Amino acid sequence: MNERCAVDVVICGAGAAGLTLAIDLARRGITFRLVEKNAEPFHGSRGKGIQPRSQEIFEDLGILDRLFAVGGVYPTERRYRDDGSYTEADSIERNASTAAEPYQQPLMVPQFLTERVMRERLLELGHRPEFGCELVAFEQDDEGVSVQLASAAGTQSVRARWLVGADGGRSFVRHALEIGFAGKTLGVRALVADVQLSGLTRDCWHRFGEGDLLRQVAVCPLAGTELFQIQAPIALEAQVDLSAQGLTAFIAKRTGRDDIQVHAVSWASAYSMNARLADHYRVGQVFLVGDAAHIHPPTGGQGLNTSVQDAYNLGWKLAAVANGAPETLLDTYEQERRPIAASVLGLSTQLLQGMQRGDMRRGRDVHQLDLGYPQSSLALGHAERVGNRAPDARLRGAGGQSLRLFDLFKGAHWTLLGYGVAPGLVSPRAGLHIHLIGAHGEVIDEQGQFQDAYELALGEWVLVRPDGYVGAIVSSGSLQSLEAYLLQVGLSPVLP
Ligand SMILES: Cc1cc2nc3c(=O)[nH]c(=O)nc-3n(C[C@H](O)[C@H](O)[C@H](O)COP(=O)(O)OP(=O)(O)OC[C@H]3O[C@@H](n4cnc5c(N)ncnc54)[C@H](O)[C@@H]3O)c2cc1C
Repeated sequence: MNERCAVDVVICGAGAAGLTLAIDLARRGITFRLVEKNAEPFHGSRGKGIQPRSQEIFEDLGILDRLFAVGGVYPTERRYRDDGSYTEADSIERNASTAAEPYQQPLMVPQFLTERVMRERLLELGHRPEFGCELVAFEQDDEGVSVQLASAAGTQSVRARWLVGADGGRSFVRHALEIGFAGKTLGVRALVADVQLSGLTRDCWHRFGEGDLLRQVAVCPLAGTELFQIQAPIALEAQVDLSAQGLTAFIAKRTGRDDIQVHAVSWASAYSMNARLADHYRVGQVFLVGDAAHIHPPTGGQGLNTSVQDAYNLGWKLAAVANGAPETLLDTYEQERRPIAASVLGLSTQLLQGMQRGDMRRGRDVHQLDLGYPQSSLALGHAERVGNRAPDARLRGAGGQSLRLFDLFKGAHWTLLGYGVAPGLVSPRAGLHIHLIGAHGEVIDEQGQFQDAYELALGEWVLVRPDGYVGAIVSSGSLQSLEAYLLQVGLSPVLP
């Protein structure tokens, strides 16, 4: 057994949730190990829809443009009738971007490409997942967690302050903590397969047998690849042949067409849909994120997005506490994220029922832009405005250059915006960027977009959390409450 080495965090699992957390901790200078039991990266398309709110997060993490470059927009749907004729329809809303909400449509990127882009970003920051390294046991005490890792090189013991189980729906960490995973099996089984195929065009999402579970099959060109993704509900006890010949025969049976030929299968799975939510997201020094904490049916493309956003919520809190913020900050992770997963479970189950009827429509509710934490203990001030996602706006710097509010938010810091306030009222401190907006400020709201989005009165302040949610809105007359808030999240004043 190797010597014990200490890190702040051990992240178990290098899927979308584990990689997001690793990138966030890496850019904050927090020490961690990211261990992945598989010997190599997962290569299936699985969660292929990156929702607008996740796009904003990926912009902050420095990978959004790369994802747009490798991915593509969702195509329209072609719904075939039995006689071979078809109608074309859009099942997603295609709204134009606005100043406040720059991303309005899901972006299609197969999950294996998203994760590849994330690993590249992590490498830029000096880290990489340890493949072929499995968490096999752990024990915790008040100060931290001792974890046992097994790899081809043997077993090693690592001491960490925290362990994060980002280890998927069958989570070893969740089981070891004996955390309940309440919910149900939805009585729906499906196949999903990434294939090379001929006989269908790549300009649309081909859907056959809509509304009839025994005949439904959807074939979607996977952006960024030459593959198609096949999805179809299957009978609960059915034996499915997932080879190229088997899938060709399956499609022929469901569509009545023998011109659609599957030539190769790069990944395929037959799975039962579940909707389950962990009873707790934290036990002592151990946390659950992503599918380890909640699993959903794939309808509406929520699983990967919810997982990424869990990690994004937890990352800055772990870093703040590692740097001296009160431990109680970590309690807000479950407080904020568990109700979100509960609502997403409801939404994806509802969409599944729509899909079974053949009328699934994915609207604004799947974009995750309206999710927030207004009930959180971290929300201070105007009840209807705090806790919500902090909108973007186009502004002008006092030097004349154009800039976006999201440019000011980008990075690991908190942002405090004073609207028409006097300078010098809030002391500067490490980890807080203060900007004054107004005719005589360093940032000018030339088109009134900031005011439209935030509706501040002159003399008010808005504090934006590192994860892009409004933490507080206070007037210049109640800066004491802001000071108390800043201390609570580990931002103490230091004279420059
Ligand atoms: C068939 C299928 C179709 C899906 N379709 C969609 C979709 O259309 N849209 C959508 O948004 N989502 C979809 N999802 C869900 C989406 O893929 C997940 O929500 C997402 O992968 C969750 O990410 P995660 O990082 O939490 O977990 P995972 O991606 O499952 O990653 C967990 C990782 O932990 C590793 N691990 C497990 N145990 C250990 C251990 N003891 N030690 C070290 N490593 C360990 C695993 O090997 C794995 O790599 C689908 C999922 C499946 C299975």
